[in-house]
Amino acid sequence: MNIRLFKPSVGEEELANIREVFERAWLGNGPMVVRFEEAWSKYIGSRMSIGVNSATAALHLALTAFHFPEGKKVLVPAITFASTATAVLYNRLIPVFVDVDPETVSIDLNDLQRKYDKDCVAVIPVHNGGYPVPMDKLMALADKLNLKVIEDCAHCAGGEYKGRKLGTWGHIGCFSFEEKKCMTTGDGGMICSDDVELIEPLRAYRWVGIDKDTWRRAEKASGLTENEAMHWHYEIAVLGYKYNMNDIAAAIGLAQLKKLDAMNARRAKIIERYLDGIKNLRIIKPIFPYERGNGAYWYFGIRCDKRDELIIHLKNRGIATGVHFYPLTLQPLFRKYAVDCRVAEGIWGNFITLPSHPDLTDSEIDFVLKSLNDFEQLYSEV
Ligand SMILES: *Cc1c(COP(=O)(O)O)cnc(C)c1O
Repeated sequence: MNIRLFKPSVGEEELANIREVFERAWLGNGPMVVRFEEAWSKYIGSRMSIGVNSATAALHLALTAFHFPEGKKVLVPAITFASTATAVLYNRLIPVFVDVDPETVSIDLNDLQRKYDKDCVAVIPVHNGGYPVPMDKLMALADKLNLKVIEDCAHCAGGEYKGRKLGTWGHIGCFSFEEKKCMTTGDGGMICSDDVELIEPLRAYRWVGIDKDTWRRAEKASGLTENEAMHWHYEIAVLGYKYNMNDIAAAIGLAQLKKLDAMNARRAKIIERYLDGIKNLRIIKPIFPYERGNGAYWYFGIRCDKRDELIIHLKNRGIATGVHFYPLTLQPLFRKYAVDCRVAEGIWGNFITLPSHPDLTDSEIDFVLKSLNDFEQLYSEV
């Protein structure tokens, strides 16, 4: 057995779209990106979407959209991937780490209020593992504290909370299409919002500050519709980045988007099978309370006191595992911003992520479950 932790589910549909891109021989930021952005807006239910080359770029630019003065503070959960907090540093702002709820491993709204001070300008809730942050409560709190809200939806493409898509509750939603996430474009990300005026300027920021896409200029250069000599002209008014999505990535994304609901449904089934298989175990418990119908859970995680022994036990049987996530407050880069996040620092040591990608077969899941049961057996005999 060799069971991967993550594996993108790709096939003929993606290849057919890539072929179309090759036949057009326009591989950069072009018509596929526009199509993917429009399809994404329609799917998620937001007025505008902007394709970028990662969620890291999306989070960076989402904060840039607000032009906060240097040195202001942004609240982020202690348990998340690095990019949630590096986005804050890229904008010359200060991350304020908020502890997590011990049950849900998502941002603790009481601790958020404790950590808040008048220099805080925004919060980046993370739907960790696809477990939705209670966005109604968070938005009410943000309203009261006058905080802008950027949802980090890297783990929950397609997920909902109370019947509304995650990523459309906050002022801006950011998604990841990195190869391990709910759907992929190889690498890629999306910024979306109903506030068109707020995010429209980010089109220049993702394109080295240039105010017109090369694709649109090239269309004009061939002169079918317009008779003008200035088609080559553009303006650079802001310090931008090379963050655009390209047409190969968008081609993969368009095919993946069609499969997203099915992939999320398969992940939900996998998680049900795992939950059922571990329900009688004493030393292995689900990482958070998986609920039906709310999230689009990205992975299946467990908690176990004997974590390292269990990781090795699974590794010896060819089962790959992970840990999501080591608290950022313990990382050297963030040590100088470290504040009391005792829950995060107390619970992360028991976390293990198990294989839960959509192509996982039932017999593979059963093999993982048998291995977990064997571990419990071993442990009980000691
Ligand atoms: C993966 C991830 C990101 C970054 O996504 P990329 O597309 O790889 O840049 C951001 N936030 C969280 C919580 C993530 O897990």
